Amino acid sequence: MSTVRSIAVIGAGTMGSGIALTAAQAGISAIQVDVSSAALDKAKAGHAKSLARLVEKGKLQAADADAARARVTYVTEMAQAKDADWVVEAATENVDVKKAIFRAMQAAFRGDAVLATNTSSISITDLASAVGVDAPRVIGMHFFNPVPIMKLVEVIRGIATSDDTTARTIELAKAMGKTPVIANDRAGFVSNRVLMPMINEAFYAWMEGVAQPADIDQIMQLGCNFPMGPLRLADFIGLDVCHDIMMVLTRELGNPKFFPCPLLRQLVQAGRLGDKSGRGVFEYPAK
Ligand code: NAD
Repeated sequence: MSTVRSIAVIGAGTMGSGIALTAAQAGISAIQVDVSSAALDKAKAGHAKSLARLVEKGKLQAADADAARARVTYVTEMAQAKDADWVVEAATENVDVKKAIFRAMQAAFRGDAVLATNTSSISITDLASAVGVDAPRVIGMHFFNPVPIMKLVEVIRGIATSDDTTARTIELAKAMGKTPVIANDRAGFVSNRVLMPMINEAFYAWMEGVAQPADIDQIMQLGCNFPMGPLRLADFIGLDVCHDIMMVLTRELGNPKFFPCPLLRQLVQAGRLGDKSGRGVFEYPAK
C-alpha cells in the first residue's frame, strides 16, 4: 500500500483527467488543477460519465462511484492543491510550459512531495534542471491512454532522481493498480520511440496513396494483431500530441526520421486533432 493519501494532477486534459480518476478509484484524493476552467468542467463531466458507465455495467457499486467522485476536487490555482503528498504534471507537451510548471510546483508543494511528470518524450533530467536542488524529487511517471484501463506506467529516472523517489513511485503506481516498468531517460523513452515512427509512417503511407486510412488500419490490425490501427491510435492520442512528441524526438535524437509527416502537420494546422476535436484522420460524433 502506498502512503500517498492525496495527489495533485496538473493539467485536466485527456491524461490528467484519467490520472485523477484512477487515483480516486484507488482511494486516493485527487486535486485536479488546470488553467482552463473549461478543461476542468470537461474533466468533471467525464469523471461522472465514466463512473456511471461502470455502475451501469455492474462493475462498480453506486456507493463506490459516489465515493470516488467525491474524492476529486477541481481548482484553477496550484496553490489550492499545496497540501497534496504527491504531484504529477500532465500539461501540454512543451518543454518551456513544463519547466514553468515545475518551478511553480517547487514553490507551491511541500519539500517532501514527489514532483512527477507524465511527459511522453521530454527529458526528465532537463525538466529537473528547472528545480535545481530539488532534482532528486523529480521523476517520469508515464501513464497510458485511457489511464483507467491501460496497465503500464513507464517509470523514468533523471540523472539526479533519488532511489527513494523511484521506490515511492513504483509503490504508488502499484497502489493505482498499474504495472511499473523502468526505462532510461532518452527522448521518447521506450514506448514513444518505437510507437511514433510507426504512426508517422502510416501517415506517409496514406499521403503517398499506398492505401486509404481505414485500409491502412485494417491491415495493421489484422496483420499484426494490433487492437487498433496506427491512424485510429493517433486520433485517440491527439494529432497535436503526436506532432509535439515527434518534434521532441527529432530535436533530441538528432535524426530527421522522426520529423512529422507533412500530412500530419497539415491536419494539426487545420485543427483536426482527433477524438478531442471531433475530427482527425477519422470523424467522431459529438460526445
Ligand atoms: P491535453 O491537450 O488533452 O491536455 C493538456 C491540458 O494541460 C489542457 O487542459 C491545458 O489547459 C492544460 N495546461 C496547459 N498549461 C497548463 C498550466 N500551466 N497549468 C495547468 N494546466 C495547464 O493533453 P494530454 O493528451 O492530456 O497530454 C498531457 C501530457 O501527457 C503531455 O505531456 C503528453 O505528452 C502526455 N501523454 C499523452 C498521452 C496521450 O495519449 N494523449 C499519453 C501519455 C502521455
